[in-house]
Amino acid sequence: MHEMSLCENILEIINAQADQQAFSKVDLVRLEVGPLSGVEVEALRFGFDVVMRGSVAEKARLDIICPEAAAWCASCNKTVSIIERYDPCPACGAVNLQITSGGELRIKEMEVS
Ligand SMILES: [Zn+2]
Repeated sequence: MHEMSLCENILEIINAQADQQAFSKVDLVRLEVGPLSGVEVEALRFGFDVVMRGSVAEKARLDIICPEAAAWCASCNKTVSIIERYDPCPACGAVNLQITSGGELRIKEMEVS
């Protein structure tokens, strides 16, 4: 389950931040998970609970936001919204769109105390 190792990466980032900014408790972690990231939100939540145990983020609430995915269509020269990676252009039906966003997984915000 690769969500587990994603959570380990997140914990590393949190620990590095905790060292830098000298906080001892994380109250909220807000993650941005793109619809094309291949991340299963349920698995991510489960992994988060397990991985954060015993860390500064043990009691942190996990908030997940899913932004819309966007791609650039070369035939109509505009940016369009897509749902899945290989979706055709909703405006002209062209394929091979260039994904511009939606594949990201990042920490958007943290509340600490
Ligand atoms: Zn198009």
